[in-house]
Amino acid sequence: MITEGTLYRPPLEAKTFLLQVTAGCTHNACQFCNMYREKSFHMIDEDILRSNLQEEKRICDIYERPHRRAFLMDGDVFSLSAANLEKKIKLIRQYMPEIEVFSMYAAVRSVKSKSDEDLAKLKDLGINDLYIGYETGLDDVLAFMNKGTTLQDSIEQAERLNSAGINHRALMILGLGGTGRGEESGYAAAELINRIKPKVTRLATLTVFPGSDLEKNVRSGDFVEAGEKEILTEEKTILENINIPEMYFWASHVLNSTPVAGYVGKDRKWMLNRLNSSLEEMDEEKFAKTFKRKHL
Ligand code: SF4
Repeated sequence: MITEGTLYRPPLEAKTFLLQVTAGCTHNACQFCNMYREKSFHMIDEDILRSNLQEEKRICDIYERPHRRAFLMDGDVFSLSAANLEKKIKLIRQYMPEIEVFSMYAAVRSVKSKSDEDLAKLKDLGINDLYIGYETGLDDVLAFMNKGTTLQDSIEQAERLNSAGINHRALMILGLGGTGRGEESGYAAAELINRIKPKVTRLATLTVFPGSDLEKNVRSGDFVEAGEKEILTEEKTILENINIPEMYFWASHVLNSTPVAGYVGKDRKWMLNRLNSSLEEMDEEKFAKTFKRKHL
Protein backbone atom coordinates (compact mmCIF):
# COMPACT_ATOMS: atom_id res chain seq x y z
CA MET A 1 0.00 0.00 0.00
CA ILE A 2 1.39 3.41 -0.99
CA THR A 3 0.93 6.00 1.79
CA GLU A 4 2.19 9.48 2.53
CA GLY A 5 3.83 10.51 5.81
CA THR A 6 2.91 9.33 9.30
CA LEU A 7 -0.65 8.03 9.49
CA TYR A 8 -2.93 8.23 12.53
CA ARG A 9 -6.10 6.35 13.29
CA PRO A 10 -8.22 6.23 16.46
CA PRO A 11 -7.47 3.28 18.78
CA LEU A 12 -11.09 2.16 18.38
CA GLU A 13 -10.43 1.61 14.66
CA ALA A 14 -7.53 -0.79 15.25
CA LYS A 15 -9.25 -3.58 13.28
CA THR A 16 -10.74 -1.39 10.55
CA PHE A 17 -9.56 -1.21 6.94
CA LEU A 18 -7.54 2.03 6.70
CA LEU A 19 -7.37 4.00 3.48
CA GLN A 20 -5.57 7.30 2.93
CA VAL A 21 -7.74 9.57 0.81
CA THR A 22 -6.16 12.92 1.72
CA ALA A 23 -2.89 13.99 3.31
CA GLY A 24 -2.63 16.50 6.15
CA CYS A 25 -5.13 18.72 7.93
CA THR A 26 -6.89 21.78 6.49
CA HIS A 27 -6.39 23.76 9.71
CA ASN A 28 -3.00 22.48 10.88
CA ALA A 29 -2.73 25.20 13.52
CA CYS A 30 -3.92 23.86 16.89
CA GLN A 31 -1.22 24.67 19.42
CA PHE A 32 -1.13 21.21 20.96
CA CYS A 33 -1.02 19.23 17.71
CA ASN A 34 1.94 18.43 15.53
CA MET A 35 0.44 15.40 13.76
CA TYR A 36 0.41 16.80 10.24
CA ARG A 37 2.92 19.64 10.41
CA GLU A 38 5.14 18.05 7.76
CA LYS A 39 2.35 17.90 5.16
CA SER A 40 0.16 20.51 3.49
CA PHE A 41 -3.41 19.38 2.90
CA HIS A 42 -4.08 17.74 -0.46
CA MET A 43 -5.91 14.83 -2.02
CA ILE A 44 -4.23 11.52 -2.74
CA ASP A 45 -3.87 10.91 -6.44
CA GLU A 46 -6.67 8.77 -7.91
CA ASP A 47 -4.20 6.34 -9.52
CA ILE A 48 -2.65 5.67 -6.11
CA LEU A 49 -6.08 5.23 -4.56
CA ARG A 50 -7.04 2.71 -7.25
CA SER A 51 -3.79 0.82 -6.90
CA ASN A 52 -4.19 0.63 -3.08
CA LEU A 53 -7.79 -0.54 -3.44
CA GLN A 54 -6.80 -3.23 -5.97
CA GLU A 55 -4.08 -4.50 -3.65
CA GLU A 56 -6.41 -4.63 -0.64
CA LYS A 57 -9.15 -6.31 -2.67
CA ARG A 58 -6.71 -9.02 -3.73
CA ILE A 59 -5.93 -9.74 -0.07
CA CYS A 60 -9.64 -9.74 0.88
CA ASP A 61 -10.37 -12.19 -1.95
CA ILE A 62 -7.56 -14.55 -0.94
CA TYR A 63 -8.83 -14.76 2.66
CA GLU A 64 -12.49 -14.50 1.64
CA ARG A 65 -12.96 -11.74 4.20
CA PRO A 66 -14.54 -8.61 2.70
CA HIS A 67 -14.32 -5.35 4.64
CA ARG A 68 -17.56 -4.04 6.13
CA ARG A 69 -16.05 -0.85 7.50
CA ALA A 70 -13.38 1.62 6.36
CA PHE A 71 -11.59 4.44 8.16
CA LEU A 72 -10.57 7.19 5.75
CA MET A 73 -7.46 9.20 6.58
CA ASP A 74 -5.77 11.78 7.09
CA GLY A 75 -6.69 14.54 9.46
CA ASP A 76 -9.89 15.90 8.01
CA VAL A 77 -11.26 13.95 5.04
CA PHE A 78 -14.68 15.37 5.87
CA SER A 79 -13.46 18.79 4.69
CA LEU A 80 -13.89 17.57 1.09
CA SER A 81 -17.09 18.76 -0.54
CA ALA A 82 -20.10 16.43 -0.38
CA ALA A 83 -19.78 15.82 -4.14
CA ASN A 84 -16.12 14.90 -3.77
CA LEU A 85 -16.82 12.60 -0.82
CA GLU A 86 -19.52 10.91 -2.86
CA LYS A 87 -17.03 10.40 -5.71
CA LYS A 88 -14.49 8.82 -3.33
CA ILE A 89 -17.06 6.50 -1.78
CA LYS A 90 -18.31 5.38 -5.18
CA LEU A 91 -14.73 4.67 -6.22
CA ILE A 92 -14.05 2.60 -3.06
CA ARG A 93 -17.30 0.68 -3.57
CA GLN A 94 -16.22 -0.30 -7.09
CA TYR A 95 -13.62 -2.47 -5.36
CA MET A 96 -15.33 -3.13 -2.02
CA PRO A 97 -19.10 -3.03 -2.39
CA GLU A 98 -19.56 -4.71 1.01
CA ILE A 99 -18.39 -1.69 3.00
CA GLU A 100 -21.33 -0.38 5.03
CA VAL A 101 -19.69 2.31 7.18
CA PHE A 102 -17.13 4.94 6.23
CA SER A 103 -15.68 6.54 9.33
CA MET A 104 -13.13 9.39 9.45
CA TYR A 105 -11.82 12.33 11.44
CA ALA A 106 -13.89 15.46 10.93
CA ALA A 107 -13.70 19.03 12.17
CA VAL A 108 -16.56 21.16 13.41
CA ARG A 109 -15.84 23.63 10.59
CA SER A 110 -16.12 20.84 7.98
CA VAL A 111 -19.59 19.97 9.25
CA LYS A 112 -20.48 23.67 9.13
CA SER A 113 -19.47 23.82 5.48
CA LYS A 114 -22.11 21.19 4.53
CA SER A 115 -25.80 21.88 4.00
CA ASP A 116 -28.46 19.76 5.72
CA GLU A 117 -29.10 18.12 2.34
CA ASP A 118 -25.38 17.30 2.04
CA LEU A 119 -25.40 15.66 5.48
CA ALA A 120 -28.47 13.58 4.61
CA LYS A 121 -26.84 12.43 1.37
CA LEU A 122 -23.55 11.56 3.12
CA LYS A 123 -25.44 9.57 5.73
CA ASP A 124 -27.17 7.62 2.92
CA LEU A 125 -23.77 6.92 1.36
CA GLY A 126 -22.64 5.23 4.58
CA ILE A 127 -20.65 8.00 6.28
CA ASN A 128 -20.99 7.57 10.02
CA ASP A 129 -19.05 7.56 13.31
CA LEU A 130 -17.21 10.84 12.67
CA TYR A 131 -14.36 11.47 15.13
CA ILE A 132 -14.59 15.14 16.04
CA GLY A 133 -12.07 17.05 18.13
CA TYR A 134 -14.34 19.16 20.34
CA GLU A 135 -11.39 19.10 22.80
CA THR A 136 -12.87 21.17 25.68
CA GLY A 137 -16.04 22.75 27.01
CA LEU A 138 -14.29 26.10 27.61
CA ASP A 139 -14.39 28.80 24.94
CA ASP A 140 -11.28 30.67 26.10
CA VAL A 141 -9.29 27.42 25.98
CA LEU A 142 -10.45 26.76 22.40
CA ALA A 143 -9.28 30.28 21.49
CA PHE A 144 -5.95 30.00 23.32
CA MET A 145 -5.24 26.66 21.66
CA ASN A 146 -6.06 28.17 18.26
CA LYS A 147 -8.73 25.58 17.50
CA GLY A 148 -10.45 27.97 15.11
CA THR A 149 -13.96 27.16 16.35
CA THR A 150 -16.15 28.18 19.28
CA LEU A 151 -18.23 26.26 21.76
CA GLN A 152 -21.36 27.52 20.04
CA ASP A 153 -20.04 26.07 16.75
CA SER A 154 -19.46 22.71 18.46
CA ILE A 155 -23.00 22.62 19.83
CA GLU A 156 -24.71 23.76 16.62
CA GLN A 157 -22.82 21.40 14.33
CA ALA A 158 -23.21 18.40 16.64
CA GLU A 159 -26.94 19.05 16.75
CA ARG A 160 -27.02 19.14 12.92
CA LEU A 161 -25.21 15.78 12.80
CA ASN A 162 -27.66 14.32 15.30
CA SER A 163 -30.59 15.56 13.21
CA ALA A 164 -29.05 13.96 10.11
CA GLY A 165 -28.60 10.67 12.01
CA ILE A 166 -24.80 10.75 11.66
CA ASN A 167 -23.13 9.40 14.80
CA HIS A 168 -20.17 11.36 16.09
CA ARG A 169 -17.49 10.45 18.60
CA ALA A 170 -16.24 13.29 20.79
CA LEU A 171 -12.49 13.65 21.18
CA MET A 172 -11.73 15.56 24.39
CA ILE A 173 -8.37 16.45 25.94
CA LEU A 174 -7.80 16.25 29.69
CA GLY A 175 -5.57 19.02 31.04
CA LEU A 176 -6.10 21.35 28.07
CA GLY A 177 -7.01 24.25 30.37
CA GLY A 178 -3.68 24.01 32.18
CA THR A 179 -3.04 24.14 35.90
CA GLY A 180 -5.81 25.34 38.21
CA ARG A 181 -8.66 24.67 35.77
CA GLY A 182 -9.18 20.91 36.12
CA GLU A 183 -12.49 20.84 37.94
CA GLU A 184 -13.89 23.76 35.96
CA SER A 185 -12.86 21.99 32.72
CA GLY A 186 -14.49 18.77 33.94
CA TYR A 187 -17.87 20.42 34.58
CA ALA A 188 -17.71 22.32 31.29
CA ALA A 189 -16.80 19.18 29.32
CA ALA A 190 -19.66 17.20 30.90
CA GLU A 191 -22.08 20.02 30.08
CA LEU A 192 -20.90 20.06 26.46
CA ILE A 193 -21.10 16.27 26.13
CA ASN A 194 -24.63 16.26 27.57
CA ARG A 195 -25.64 18.87 24.97
CA ILE A 196 -24.01 17.30 21.90
CA LYS A 197 -24.84 13.66 22.75
CA PRO A 198 -21.98 11.77 21.05
CA LYS A 199 -22.22 7.96 20.86
CA VAL A 200 -18.69 7.71 22.24
CA THR A 201 -16.49 10.13 24.17
CA ARG A 202 -12.77 9.58 23.99
CA LEU A 203 -10.58 11.23 26.60
CA ALA A 204 -6.84 11.55 26.04
CA THR A 205 -4.47 13.45 28.30
CA LEU A 206 -2.72 16.54 27.00
CA THR A 207 0.86 15.92 25.96
CA VAL A 208 3.25 18.71 25.10
CA PHE A 209 4.76 17.29 21.93
CA PRO A 210 8.25 18.40 20.95
CA GLY A 211 8.13 21.06 18.25
CA SER A 212 4.49 22.01 18.90
CA ASP A 213 3.48 25.64 19.44
CA LEU A 214 2.34 24.63 22.89
CA GLU A 215 5.87 23.60 23.79
CA LYS A 216 6.99 27.20 23.16
CA ASN A 217 4.26 28.49 25.45
CA VAL A 218 5.28 26.04 28.16
CA ARG A 219 8.88 27.23 27.85
CA SER A 220 7.86 30.89 28.07
CA GLY A 221 5.60 30.18 31.05
CA ASP A 222 2.41 31.23 29.20
CA PHE A 223 1.00 27.74 29.74
CA VAL A 224 1.54 25.64 32.85
CA GLU A 225 0.57 21.99 32.67
CA ALA A 226 -1.84 20.52 35.21
CA GLY A 227 -0.52 17.87 37.58
CA GLU A 228 -1.74 14.29 37.41
CA LYS A 229 -4.09 14.61 40.39
CA GLU A 230 -5.78 17.56 38.76
CA ILE A 231 -6.11 15.64 35.50
CA LEU A 232 -7.69 12.67 37.28
CA THR A 233 -10.04 15.04 39.11
CA GLU A 234 -11.08 16.54 35.77
CA GLU A 235 -11.74 13.07 34.36
CA LYS A 236 -13.71 12.05 37.44
CA THR A 237 -15.79 15.24 37.27
CA ILE A 238 -16.66 14.52 33.63
CA LEU A 239 -17.67 10.94 34.35
CA GLU A 240 -19.74 11.91 37.41
CA ASN A 241 -21.69 14.54 35.50
CA ILE A 242 -22.47 12.89 32.17
CA ASN A 243 -26.14 11.98 31.94
CA ILE A 244 -26.12 9.77 28.83
CA PRO A 245 -26.27 6.16 30.14
CA GLU A 246 -25.88 4.57 26.68
CA MET A 247 -22.74 6.56 25.82
CA TYR A 248 -19.44 4.70 25.66
CA PHE A 249 -16.80 6.43 27.78
CA TRP A 250 -13.37 5.56 26.45
CA ALA A 251 -10.41 6.83 28.49
CA SER A 252 -7.94 4.04 27.81
CA HIS A 253 -5.62 6.08 25.65
CA VAL A 254 -1.92 5.30 25.89
CA LEU A 255 -1.48 8.87 27.18
CA ASN A 256 -3.80 8.28 30.17
CA SER A 257 -2.39 7.14 33.49
CA THR A 258 -5.50 5.19 34.55
CA PRO A 259 -7.17 3.35 31.69
CA VAL A 260 -10.93 3.00 32.04
CA ALA A 261 -13.56 2.27 29.38
CA GLY A 262 -17.21 1.32 29.59
CA TYR A 263 -20.81 2.45 29.23
CA VAL A 264 -21.75 5.37 31.43
CA GLY A 265 -24.92 3.74 32.82
CA LYS A 266 -23.60 0.24 33.33
CA ASP A 267 -19.94 0.82 34.16
CA ARG A 268 -19.74 4.26 35.80
CA LYS A 269 -19.42 2.90 39.34
CA TRP A 270 -16.36 0.73 38.81
CA MET A 271 -14.74 3.32 36.56
CA LEU A 272 -15.13 5.96 39.29
CA ASN A 273 -13.77 3.52 41.87
CA ARG A 274 -10.68 2.99 39.75
CA LEU A 275 -10.15 6.72 39.24
CA ASN A 276 -10.61 7.32 42.99
CA SER A 277 -8.03 4.63 43.83
CA SER A 278 -5.57 6.24 41.43
CA LEU A 279 -6.19 9.64 42.98
CA GLU A 280 -5.57 8.29 46.49
CA GLU A 281 -2.38 6.50 45.49
CA MET A 282 -1.01 9.21 43.21
CA ASP A 283 2.46 10.38 44.12
CA GLU A 284 3.09 13.25 41.69
CA GLU A 285 6.87 13.11 42.04
CA LYS A 286 7.16 9.39 41.46
CA PHE A 287 4.63 9.59 38.64
CA ALA A 288 6.58 12.31 36.81
CA LYS A 289 9.70 10.14 36.92
CA THR A 290 8.08 6.95 35.69
CA PHE A 291 5.29 7.92 33.26
CA LYS A 292 6.61 9.69 30.16
CA ARG A 293 4.30 11.33 27.65
CA LYS A 294 6.22 12.27 24.54
CA HIS A 295 4.66 10.51 21.55
CA LEU A 296 1.28 9.19 20.46
S1 SF4 B 1 -6.00 18.88 16.28
FE1 SF4 B 1 -7.09 18.27 14.43
S2 SF4 B 1 -7.74 20.23 13.51
FE2 SF4 B 1 -6.15 20.72 14.98
S3 SF4 B 1 -4.25 20.76 13.77
FE3 SF4 B 1 -4.44 18.68 14.66
S4 SF4 B 1 -5.47 17.48 13.08
FE4 SF4 B 1 -5.77 19.65 12.56
